[in-house]
Amino acid sequence: MPPAHPFDDDKLREECGIFGVVGVKDAASFVALGLHALQHRGQEAGGIVTHDPELGFNSARRFGYVRDNFTSSDVMESLPGPIGIGHVRYSTAGSKGQTAIRDVQPFFGEFSMGGAAIAHNGNITNANALRRELIDRGSIFQSSSDSECIIHLMARSLQRNIPERMEDALRRVEGAFSIVAMTRTKLIGVRDPLGVRPLVLGKIGDGWCLSSETCALDIIGAEFVREIEPGEMVEINAERGVESLFPFRRQPPKFCIFEHVYFSRPDSILGGRSVYETRESIGRELAKESPVDADLVCPVPDSGTPAAIGYSLESGIPYAMGIIRNQYMGRTFIEPTEQIRNMGVRLKLNVNRALIQGKRVILVDDSVVRGTTSRKIKEMILDAGAKEVHFRIASPPTAWPCFYGVDTPQREKLLAATMTEDEMTKHLAVNSLKFISLDGLYRAVGESQGRSKECPQYCDACFSGEYPVTPADMVEKGFQMQPAAE
Ligand code: SF4
Repeated sequence: MPPAHPFDDDKLREECGIFGVVGVKDAASFVALGLHALQHRGQEAGGIVTHDPELGFNSARRFGYVRDNFTSSDVMESLPGPIGIGHVRYSTAGSKGQTAIRDVQPFFGEFSMGGAAIAHNGNITNANALRRELIDRGSIFQSSSDSECIIHLMARSLQRNIPERMEDALRRVEGAFSIVAMTRTKLIGVRDPLGVRPLVLGKIGDGWCLSSETCALDIIGAEFVREIEPGEMVEINAERGVESLFPFRRQPPKFCIFEHVYFSRPDSILGGRSVYETRESIGRELAKESPVDADLVCPVPDSGTPAAIGYSLESGIPYAMGIIRNQYMGRTFIEPTEQIRNMGVRLKLNVNRALIQGKRVILVDDSVVRGTTSRKIKEMILDAGAKEVHFRIASPPTAWPCFYGVDTPQREKLLAATMTEDEMTKHLAVNSLKFISLDGLYRAVGESQGRSKECPQYCDACFSGEYPVTPADMVEKGFQMQPAAE
């Protein structure tokens, strides 16, 4: 498994990307390309399952990048067939940081009516209780992943076919799930009733595909058809096309607002808008809310870039690449020695000294999680001779952990959970620090009236502490939710 790096724990991490295709020749190649485009959603491991009418189900699961594992002819020839699904993962549930290959999805189950494989993006918030119940009733778990509960619930269902068993299983599941699944002939896509995690439908020739994001449709030349709706289940068959069902009780949607800020790729389309444009709007809102006199607007690369461009356009302060990212510094770097570890952020980012010297610099970043990286970047900028450093953050203070499929430190490790904005400014020792407001963020994502207090249009729990689904497993372990009145 590629080793994690010291600065990798200072960002929230999306944990999974999913992709599936049906009705094409050589589905595995399309799935591999789709997963490659979704690699930003999980770099730890990936897996592909395919089905061939003569050779049955086949699967390959590997640690590391898609490009290193699913390009060799050995592996790809072992995955024949016109239907396939795949998954890239960064562990959120399961044995985090010490993943076993048995935790790598897709998971497969053999039922009396045939086999099925599933790939899950999200997090089941009542998985512990379900797992206990299932084990008591005789289920034998193969992995430590919450997603495996779905296969066992399906095995216990009395429904006649696999899609109906999946419906049955998912009615017991709480939390966030976008799922791509397959039988011998059908590709199945499901989003939880709140639609917390994304899932889109694409068309490729006579075939169809499902993906976490539209950028993975682009790479294979598929046409974006639409988003799968919150609470929708689609069953796709190469001959009959797409059948849509809404098996769950309808609820107001709560899409993850952080997908707009950081997780999704800027070239994806979310809610009918380009992620890039939304991020630029966030930068504009930030400039309106928190202006400051300065000479340059610089992004913390790469995720701060569109917001920094927006801030610059709105404020009229020139945009500049004051920090350069080393593109080849990935998570596959050799096991770092102590000396290399201490270099931290400098391994990944370098200051463009000639630009920065003597300037008042606005640094735009997508978020502050622990604050360790922000502090180091500020030191690098000051070492390079900047006169002032002003942080502008394209998300509100991250003060609460996410339990819906995003890797977040424990609450006490989040800088904003323990400090006010003023305290954070002092702690980071910067001239100023400002976060976009929740209302400003909502306006930037297209909600012109801002956030509805009565019924927020998105999940924003990591900022507001208002969890749209009670994280039952975490509450059982002692997690204190915010009192409703606060
Ligand atoms: S808690 Fe934050 S990161 Fe998690 S789903 Fe909600 S908005 Fe997204």
